[in-house]
Amino acid sequence: MPHNPSAPHRPMIFLDRDGTVNVDAGYVYRVQDWLFLDGSIEAMLLLQKHGYTLSIATNQSGIARGMYTSDDVAILHDHMCEQLARAGITVEAIAICPHGPEDACGCRKPAPGLAEQIRESVDFTIDTGRSWMIGDKISDLEFGLAIGVRTALLKSTYWSNEQLSATRADVRCDSLLQAAEAIVTFDD
Ligand SMILES: [Mg+2]
Ligand SMILES: [Zn+2]
Repeated sequence: MPHNPSAPHRPMIFLDRDGTVNVDAGYVYRVQDWLFLDGSIEAMLLLQKHGYTLSIATNQSGIARGMYTSDDVAILHDHMCEQLARAGITVEAIAICPHGPEDACGCRKPAPGLAEQIRESVDFTIDTGRSWMIGDKISDLEFGLAIGVRTALLKSTYWSNEQLSATRADVRCDSLLQAAEAIVTFDD
């Protein structure tokens, strides 16, 4: 589908961060530890070219755990966005849950709060029916289901096929690039 910047309703790609965009080394917060996964930049570019707006929804419980601060995350995300901008990619919104599992907040995925934050921060209406969540955990899949978008689940050590009996992803694949290729084919 061609990109139409004047379209009032735009499809959104909600991206998980760690293990989806960058290598999940566990609580990544330093610029020197940031490493894009193979093909993730290409994937984001492909999605953008097909008219999708990109956003990131990320759980960062390391903040609640006192391992790093929201300033550290902001610096890291500046670095990420700088690298992406060089490739012509814009991430329209980044929403972060700084809480831990015990905080019972409304924004730690799979709770839908981060999607609400993203919805409020963009100046257009998100076309939910044409939007997708892409992530590597079951909580990402559940987040996508909770906000009513389609879902792409990336292979990871965080889930097994047995766990998928109750919840099904529209697309299952090995990498963000494979997901992007499947999504643009799916929606053509
Ligand atoms: Mg992840
Ligand atoms: Zn939260």
